[in-house]
Amino acid sequence: MTGVIFDIHESSLHDGNGLRITVFFKGCPLRCRWCHSPEGQSMKIEKLFLPDGTYRMAGEFYEAKKLGKYLRETAELIDNGGITFSGGEPLMQGEFLLELLNEIPDIHTIVETCGVCDSQLLLKVAEKVSLIHYGLKIIDSRKSEFWTGCDSKTAIDNLIALDKQSQTPYIIRMPLLAKIIDNENNMRDLMNLINSLDRVQKVEFLPSNSMASAKYALLQKEIDPLCQNCPSGKLPDFFKLKVPCEILS
Ligand code: SF4
Repeated sequence: MTGVIFDIHESSLHDGNGLRITVFFKGCPLRCRWCHSPEGQSMKIEKLFLPDGTYRMAGEFYEAKKLGKYLRETAELIDNGGITFSGGEPLMQGEFLLELLNEIPDIHTIVETCGVCDSQLLLKVAEKVSLIHYGLKIIDSRKSEFWTGCDSKTAIDNLIALDKQSQTPYIIRMPLLAKIIDNENNMRDLMNLINSLDRVQKVEFLPSNSMASAKYALLQKEIDPLCQNCPSGKLPDFFKLKVPCEILS
């Protein structure tokens, strides 16, 4: 089976514990206005227009067995770390992801998901990975629809299914965008939801990425101006969780 990948980073320090290979899948069901990987949203292979007037393609077809062999061999060179599947949304290519995971059974693996996917597929993938990074964002459905193009129901339902029906450890990860994520109502809703979960290990907030607008320029698009006025927020005093919580640098 083939899948579409738009990047492979061979020495990432930000996508989980240790040194990791990160594989970026094309395609995402969301359209977050602040998205830091706009080249990962569409399943289509796209041109990225470089400042020197040339272009490169974002997206390449990979065969699962061949990519699995390459990842196995490359991961052998890593002492402490593993492989992270990110995107885009890896579960948009669920069958390809499952086939790929079957090729690397003894390697520490992380899947980063926005949770907007079929719940049975999520549970199936969870059975095969070491850890899940679950990307929670906006709890209010109407606001979620405005900022991400999708209401929050599926992501919340799937988070609860993962919590109750799987044994795989998971971490909640989300951007700390002032006004959008970091506003009092959303932070209270997030806190209440997270504190109602039984198995979440940790919460990690990701700072806003000031490089994102450059990526939009490569696609000859512009980042939503509403997001340019929303730098990284800070955790409010009332935000108390029963699990560790960290703002990553
Ligand atoms: S879920 Fe992630 S990849 Fe998808 S649109 Fe949102 S920020 Fe971009």
